[in-house]
Amino acid sequence: MKAVARRIETMVEPQEVLEGAGVRLMRSIGTRELDHLDPFLLLDHFASRNPDDFQAGFPLHPHRGIETVTYVLTGEVRHRDTLGNSGSIGAGDLQWMTAGGGIMHEEMPQSRPEGIAGFQLWVNLPAKLKMTAPRYRDVRSASIPVITTDEGARVRVIAGRVGDTAGAVSGIAADPVYLDVTVPAHATFTQPITRGHAAFVYVFEGKARIAADGAKDGTVIPHPRLVVLGEGDLVKVAADAGPARFLLVSGKPLREPIARYGPFVMNTREEIEQALEDLRQGTFVK
Ligand code: MN
Repeated sequence: MKAVARRIETMVEPQEVLEGAGVRLMRSIGTRELDHLDPFLLLDHFASRNPDDFQAGFPLHPHRGIETVTYVLTGEVRHRDTLGNSGSIGAGDLQWMTAGGGIMHEEMPQSRPEGIAGFQLWVNLPAKLKMTAPRYRDVRSASIPVITTDEGARVRVIAGRVGDTAGAVSGIAADPVYLDVTVPAHATFTQPITRGHAAFVYVFEGKARIAADGAKDGTVIPHPRLVVLGEGDLVKVAADAGPARFLLVSGKPLREPIARYGPFVMNTREEIEQALEDLRQGTFVK
């Protein structure tokens, strides 16, 4: 059977939100327009050179039931958590944090001349793993494989597989693909995506097009925009006059009920109330 190229299902313009102690973010998943894209619950893009936009940071706060994935493009985020991890993530680094049954952490973007830029993605955990032991994975830039395709696209393989190259992060319940792709002018990046998996492209530099099979035309996607991809076997992302840079992310939908309250995402309202009760009782972190 002929492989089907995925097309644009919806295009979302990120909304400006103020989060944490006053951090200005562009949110494209986790909004009224796009509440979630199962298994993804939130996508925040931070990019500013003005310390007033981010230096208040995210002081100590809890998470339960999800994984938070922070990818820094520029600048530095200092962090510490109740597992005893502390340090900083810099340009090109990533942290994949499985909150599981409960973690408290602090995420503080640092004031530096280059400012701060990056992403936070929330990946849902299936019911059977929501109360799993928390886990923190520190992924240094140098450990993320970088490949160049025949067409000249440069791909940082954070999770999933591109050709024979496996990503830096594996063993995640949602079976995610997480790629940071730069496509040069007049080139196309083609990537298989498992049928049935949710997938999106988030363009953050230049302009891109989702090229359907054989078609030269297609809607131009400026930055910053999130494009939800329809069903199919692969995606083709093209750059026109200038280079385009984007995240390509996919994952297996959980198809479970979502009960969401701030930093907790569970299956039922009772489980949310339990999380709040555990916080009050001081028994949140096991
Ligand atoms: Mn957090």
